[in-house]
Amino acid sequence: MNDQLLQPEEHVLSTLEQDGSRRWIYPRLFQGKYWNRRRVVGYFLIILFIALPHLKINSNPAIFLNITRREFTILGFKFLPTDTLLLAFFMISVFLSIFLLTALFGRVWCGWACPQTIYLEFVYRPIERLFCGTKGHGGKPHQPVPLIRRLMMYGVYLIVSMILAHTFLAYFVSVSELQRWVQQSPFTHPTGFLVMTATVVLMMFNFSFFREQLCTIACPYGRFQSVLLDRRSLIVSYDQSRGEPRGKISKTETESRGDCIDCGQCVRACPTGIDIRDGLQMECIHCTQCMDACDEIMVKVDRPLGLVRYSSQDEIEGQPVRKLRPRVVIYPLLLLLSVSAFTITLINKKSFDVTVMRNYGNPYIVTDQDLVENNLQIKLVNRTDAPETYQLKIEGSDDVHMEVMAGTSLQARETKTIPLLVSVPRASFVGGLREVDLVILARDNAEERKVTCQLLGP
Ligand code: SF4
Ligand code: SF4
Repeated sequence: MNDQLLQPEEHVLSTLEQDGSRRWIYPRLFQGKYWNRRRVVGYFLIILFIALPHLKINSNPAIFLNITRREFTILGFKFLPTDTLLLAFFMISVFLSIFLLTALFGRVWCGWACPQTIYLEFVYRPIERLFCGTKGHGGKPHQPVPLIRRLMMYGVYLIVSMILAHTFLAYFVSVSELQRWVQQSPFTHPTGFLVMTATVVLMMFNFSFFREQLCTIACPYGRFQSVLLDRRSLIVSYDQSRGEPRGKISKTETESRGDCIDCGQCVRACPTGIDIRDGLQMECIHCTQCMDACDEIMVKVDRPLGLVRYSSQDEIEGQPVRKLRPRVVIYPLLLLLSVSAFTITLINKKSFDVTVMRNYGNPYIVTDQDLVENNLQIKLVNRTDAPETYQLKIEGSDDVHMEVMAGTSLQARETKTIPLLVSVPRASFVGGLREVDLVILARDNAEERKVTCQLLGP
């Protein structure tokens, strides 16, 4: 009885055997029309991924995520830690794009563009098939693969992983820095070397062992996307009304059957090991391999294509199909707002950032001359790649005296905090407050920013 209770009726996870051991998946390859399209997209994205750190826009790298300096260059635009608003609009736009894309096209990212899928299906799996003797059709090798061929396969994996790890790191340390690292001894840059080694090890672990489990049990993004789907989103689905009752083709059988001949090829093609005929599942990465597999079978048995096809839950269940729904109107509108806010903020961005802060300690001092002194600090960030000298002045208040307590020249990309002493007649305070306008001029007065400072007094 206990034995029965402990026996699961089916696979708990598509990647686990019933006894809990790993179920290795060797998907069969069906080179149908979707495979060919995905292959074109996949190779294009691989080339793009390798090329991006080398490309320049506005003489800046296309993408450079300099974490140590907290500078992010995206499509040639440099974002600094002070660009909170810009980064917020950028991230909101990215998230809204994902929401919209998922609402319209389902998990298109997972199947067509995710680096995990692309590298596994178009780089590592072809190498595996080459060494395991299943090139062109995939599936489980019929013969045990000799150890020497396995070792050679892992050797090639290692070389590929090193190339990809170097490309990946180029996004974070720049191509020129990476070239320097490669030419030098690892002891001259031990941290970089350790990061590189860890990246290669992780890639080897992922692409030679962990594989589809990253999508089915580890990736939060997959779960996140599943939540964003609705009944009208595009999904890979099996047409139950056409396919059922499924059954093998039999010349003697008189009972009418559906179009599914229960050949199991869609299951054998699946890189995550699921059966699309069980309905929409979290493990389905929408790679379309089951669609190609089933279409190939339908051609052979002379039945219409598309038993497994791109559809939506409503469409496949014969419900009325309404493409227009609140989320496909609201998401684009919000996206438009967010992109507009980002663009306007970016266009109005100056070549320098200013933040005025109050000094610690006494908020103000009253002098013998009946003046109120406020100690302020002005934080200047030179966003440009050239040194710059800034002019500071008070505007519109003749009774205000300001003393700048440090130099106002900044090196390229330098951040400097400059103390200011601002003195104002005591009589000019109303309710203990007085506002003054501080103007900062740069680029030979061609650029200016005005900051209103709140002074405290008696
Ligand atoms: S069910 Fe089909 S689309 Fe989904 S992961 Fe498996 S093969 Fe790909
Ligand atoms: S490939 Fe098509 S016909 Fe074969 S089992 Fe899958 S759905 Fe049925």
